[in-house]
Amino acid sequence: MILPVIKYGHPVLRQKGARIESVTAEVRQLIGDMFETMNASKGIGLAAQQVGQALQLTVLDLRVVTDRPSTLELKGKPTDVNDFMPLVLINPEVKPVGEPVTGPEGCLSFPEIYGDISRPESVDVKALNEKGKPIEFRCGGLLARAVQHEADHLNGILFIDRMDRKTKAELRDELDELQATTKAALEVTRKKR
Ligand code: ZN
Repeated sequence: MILPVIKYGHPVLRQKGARIESVTAEVRQLIGDMFETMNASKGIGLAAQQVGQALQLTVLDLRVVTDRPSTLELKGKPTDVNDFMPLVLINPEVKPVGEPVTGPEGCLSFPEIYGDISRPESVDVKALNEKGKPIEFRCGGLLARAVQHEADHLNGILFIDRMDRKTKAELRDELDELQATTKAALEVTRKKR
C-alpha cells in the first residue's frame, strides 16, 4: 500500500525512532509499504518517520541512480552495490570513517527543495536486516550519503539541519511556506476529529 509521505512541519519528523526488538508481521508489512511508497515517489531512501512512524527503520534502493557512484565493502571485500539492493536497515549504528565531502541532497519530505550538504565520504554501518539478522558493511559515495541522511531521520534530524547558513538562508522562504502548509493541513485534520 502506498502511504502518504509526511512533509516538513509535521512533528513526527522530529521524533527519535523507537528501537525495533523483533521483526513482526506488522513490521514486515510496514517495510513492504515503505518500499512501495518510496518507489512511487522515485526516492532512493525512506525513513519510518516519513510515513508517520517513529521507529528505527529505513529502506533504501539506489539502483535507479546511475550517475552518482557508490562503494560497498563486506568484511573488507569490495562488493557490487546493486547486488545489495534493496536494503533494509533496522536500529542502524553509523560511524564516519572518511573525510567530509559536499554533495547535493533532496528529501521526499521536502518536495523540490535541494541543497549541498557536507558529510563524511564513507561510513561503517551495523544494523539488522528485514529478517532481523545482523549485517555489517562499509560504504562510500552516494550510498554513504543516503545511509547518513536516513539514519539522521531516525533520530529526528533533517538535512536542513546540516546545511550551511548561506544555503539555508537561500531556501528560507520555501521552507517557511512548506512548514506553514503542513501545519495548516494538520490543523484542518485536528478540527475534523
Ligand atoms: Zn529525507
